[in-house]
Amino acid sequence: MKHDFDLFVIGAGSGGIATARRAAQYGAKVGIAEFDRLGGTCVNRGCVPKKLMVYASHFPDLFEESQGYGWSSVESTLDWKKMITAVNNEVNRLNGIYQKMLDNSKVEVLQGYGKFVDSHTIMVDDASGGQSQRQVTADKILIAVGGKPVKPHILGIEHAITSDDIFHLKKQPKRIVILGGGYIGCEFASILNGLGTEVTQVIRGDKILRGFDEDIRIEIQQSMINHGIRIVNNIELIAIDKTSEGLKITVKGSGDTEETVVADAVSLAAVGRKPNTQNLGLENTKVQHRDGAILVDEYSRTHEENIYAVGDCTDRINLTPVAINEGRALADTVFGGKSRIMSYANIPTAVFTTPEAATVGLTEAEAREKYGDAVKIYRSRFRPMYYTLAGKDEKTLMKLVVDSNTDKVLGAHMVGNSAAEIIQGVAIAVKMGATKADFDATVGIHPTSAEEFVTMR
Ligand code: NDP
Repeated sequence: MKHDFDLFVIGAGSGGIATARRAAQYGAKVGIAEFDRLGGTCVNRGCVPKKLMVYASHFPDLFEESQGYGWSSVESTLDWKKMITAVNNEVNRLNGIYQKMLDNSKVEVLQGYGKFVDSHTIMVDDASGGQSQRQVTADKILIAVGGKPVKPHILGIEHAITSDDIFHLKKQPKRIVILGGGYIGCEFASILNGLGTEVTQVIRGDKILRGFDEDIRIEIQQSMINHGIRIVNNIELIAIDKTSEGLKITVKGSGDTEETVVADAVSLAAVGRKPNTQNLGLENTKVQHRDGAILVDEYSRTHEENIYAVGDCTDRINLTPVAINEGRALADTVFGGKSRIMSYANIPTAVFTTPEAATVGLTEAEAREKYGDAVKIYRSRFRPMYYTLAGKDEKTLMKLVVDSNTDKVLGAHMVGNSAAEIIQGVAIAVKMGATKADFDATVGIHPTSAEEFVTMR
């Protein structure tokens, strides 16, 4: 063999591991470099610990709601340290599982930071700061280095933490200011609010979750406010000062009026992420990038014929299952003899706010832009049965976007309990090109919220 490996992967996150294992299944000799823990953002600093904290945040509501069903009131307080330890123990367990999976697949893991020497050669510095180095060569190389949070350039931003840090806070913040109204900002606003922190969310637009369907944005925002989150909108962030009272966050409204919000020595910057491609030695290859995002074609090929890139470092659609799919399509094509590309149409996604939101396909605005007046909207807003005895006025919203010319369902959107679980199923139908008549011909499961999707008139 001319090289040490058939495939060498830089970055053992979701995309890198999926590609490495699939390629190894096809018989390729595969190595993977990782300087941090196995599993990448999703397992260590993202989806997994976040979702566990989402579960933790729901208990106070459940205790309260149970009383409507005859349970006596529950006095319970959160042991923050215990929760954080439990979450991190689970992450550690998953790290071990990843190691086992890679061992079983005969993928060699090199602990260290991978950097291009040339288009076939990678130098892996050991994780403790380059004390030992190993140079490897590979026929094909995959860049799967993910992304990292960015912070806005404002005075005092060094006092702000990011979503990377939240899972390691020693103490629960009593008051927090969250900057940003995207996925991370909204999810952590809901989590921390549910756990009992006083949350102020500062956004520069009029509504959270730009890019989502307008009805969904309005519904979640209002529900988050109803749950006690203070959302300050149309605001520009000016500065963060550390004072004896805590962090003073100065913001400016549209009328040039300044306001100060005091947080409990913590403020979370959730204003987006950027590809983790600095110091990769890309200059030693023909790989090209735009603002750090590696440029690839539909087969995830870079401008260097033997180098590929998948996942957040390509800044296409930054979701774990997308990175996994891109990686598997690549391995199938290059090592499995089954040429295929990832399909980016109708990717379902969820925001784990309280209440949860999930969506697949076109928003109403996107559909109207494409299909004009042919777009027909079906909407249902109701109080789910669960909340009747609980005595709460929580609403669920469901919406279908349909092309009346073809009867095809172009989009399905939901805010409410189990939205992610429900939309995952609906997404199969939308992906298959189901019509509204197909939805109507499907018998509902009664009594559920989900049955509304097949009974909307
Ligand atoms: P997003 O891109 O989703 O949102 C960024 C937010 O920050 C927006 O509200 C944006 O406002 C605001 N913003 C950007 N720049 C500034 C600035 N200079 N000053 C003030 N506000 C600013 O990023 P996130 O960090 O929330 O998440 C990153 C990515 O991670 C997501 O896009 C998603 O792909 C992924 N993710 C997915 C999750 C899931 O699937 N459940 C969960 C968490 C993350 P505006 O809208 O005005 O631009």
